[in-house]
Amino acid sequence: MSSQAAEKTTRNLPKPKAAYLPTSKDSPLYANRELYNAIAATHEAGKRELIEKVTVPVRSGRAWKVPKGHVCRIIALEGPQVGDLNIWNANNPRERLWASRTRQLHSAHVSVYDRLWSNLPYLRPLCTITGDSIAYGQDEWGGRCHDLLGTRCDPYVDKLLSGEDNDFHCHSNLTRAVLPYGLTEFDVHDVLNVFQLTGLNEHDQYFMETCPAKKGDYFEFFAETDLLCALSTCPGGDLSQWDWGESEDGAGVDMTECCRPLGVEVYKLTDDSVLQNWAEPQPVKYNGLHGLKMP
Ligand SMILES: [Zn+2]
Repeated sequence: MSSQAAEKTTRNLPKPKAAYLPTSKDSPLYANRELYNAIAATHEAGKRELIEKVTVPVRSGRAWKVPKGHVCRIIALEGPQVGDLNIWNANNPRERLWASRTRQLHSAHVSVYDRLWSNLPYLRPLCTITGDSIAYGQDEWGGRCHDLLGTRCDPYVDKLLSGEDNDFHCHSNLTRAVLPYGLTEFDVHDVLNVFQLTGLNEHDQYFMETCPAKKGDYFEFFAETDLLCALSTCPGGDLSQWDWGESEDGAGVDMTECCRPLGVEVYKLTDDSVLQNWAEPQPVKYNGLHGLKMP
């Protein structure tokens, strides 16, 4: 059930504008397309060097670093699979992806030229998306790819809804992945759901469709600062089946057959001229007093 009626009400209001449109080409919201096109083109041009390769096995998590000025690719190695991505400033994990502000500044699903922004009191692009082989657009149900609307699956909501304990939800996969970096469950945050197709239905309810990725599809971003990233291969796999254990016959659905590994590649750019006009974005310089009077 939803509190939101499916019928639209006509109130004769003017069509609202997007709240955070960039006002000029100098806006920090607007990625310099020339620069990011040049960064993306280094792949075909052979102007980048693979420095790290990670495979995230089925129903697990891995973490890795991406130095600033480097490029990271997430790859559907064997076919459709959703990946839940967390991103931190590698030198200060209190600064991390802020999904809801990113949603407002760009859109609820992200693709090339969108930036993934950090939380307060920082607020800067942690990375800028440079590649998206899915280029899904919008389908007849309003579904779009690379989702910022939802969050990670977690064992708490599973227990709440099904009464079962499950240790391999994305929240847990991400928790295990970041432990070697000194982080804990409390550092895991709202994710970017890479390769995940979602939308809101006529009742304003969140829905998920089957992942559209094919073998070899990729999602690529440029690190604007030193990053620690973690990725979970969602136990929902390609989301062609979904089951919170609430199926009426109690049998549940075996989802392991729709689970596949994801690949991660980190590249160093080998042509220095590509980044000659790039500079690491800095946190916003608000005075930070919030109206408090200092003695
Ligand atoms: Zn998940």
